[in-house]
Amino acid sequence: MDSYTVLFGVIGDPIRHSKSPVMMNRAFEALGINGSYGAFHVVPEKLGEAIKGIRALGFRGLNVTLPHKVNVMAHLDEIHPGALAAGAVNTIVNEQGRLIGYNTDGIGYVRSLKEEAASNLADSKIVVLGAGGAARGIVWALAQEHPAEIIVANRTEEKARELVATLSAEANLTPIAWSQLQTACQDADVVINTTSIGMAPNVDAVPLDVSWLKPGAVASDLIYNPLKTKFLQQSDERGLVVHGGLGMFIYQGAYAFEYWTGQRAPVEVMVQAVLESFETSFSQ
Ligand code: NAP
Repeated sequence: MDSYTVLFGVIGDPIRHSKSPVMMNRAFEALGINGSYGAFHVVPEKLGEAIKGIRALGFRGLNVTLPHKVNVMAHLDEIHPGALAAGAVNTIVNEQGRLIGYNTDGIGYVRSLKEEAASNLADSKIVVLGAGGAARGIVWALAQEHPAEIIVANRTEEKARELVATLSAEANLTPIAWSQLQTACQDADVVINTTSIGMAPNVDAVPLDVSWLKPGAVASDLIYNPLKTKFLQQSDERGLVVHGGLGMFIYQGAYAFEYWTGQRAPVEVMVQAVLESFETSFSQ
């Protein structure tokens, strides 16, 4: 670092688990960019002050994670339409003092899904399990790919209906009850788990019976801890195409990196950095 170093960071509460600093600093290093990325523990009462600090110190960019993704919007100068539709911001770009909010979670997920498992989503039938914060951005981004239908199932059915109502102009969306999942999955091309079912420490939990999915379907999970959930292990055993959550994490960061620097993100280097960091934390 020197007096020209450009500053970046991530804010959240908690934040010490974040792999973003390792991933982003390795990306800056790989491209010879004089940038530095830190992790900042910001409690909800200090969110406004933290954003003022970003302005005052002239940070070029910031990632925002739980629980600030919605509340941070009130402190920004402009919100990108994709972030408005998703109802959350996870990336801020400082354009000469104007703070602009983006959401790269949903588009990061779709980029990962298309590169790793399903190159063309047009006219496909997609089932999304869950209607929480992550599901909203993902459904918006999936809708931009012109699928035939997106079905949203959630344990609390009312939340699935709300999500569909807010995004209904974007695509052919249908909310269903959790009990209708088996029928919905039978002819689905892609089934996506956006719930926390199967996340560590509850690694033996599965969101549905994988025998409901048709042969050749894509089984996708947002969870990346563990890297391969029980849902994906069982889908793999059935010969389905499986897609894990690590790619979403990498590509949400890749988009942020590209918005900040104008350069293509070194994705392979970023994957390597995160995997090494996982090995270190698992062995500690
Ligand atoms: P959230 O807003 O808290 O939503 C959680 C969702 O899971 C809700 O739909 C909830 O249903 C459902 N759920 C939780 N426990 C359930 C259970 N036992 N049975 C049925 N449904 C259950 O969380 P989020 O921010 O959307 O995150 C969801 C998952 O995505 C987490 O595992 C997170 O790690 C992962 N994620 C991954 C990335 C990535 O970069 N790969 C990014 C963001 C999130 P109800 O509405 O009925 O409560």
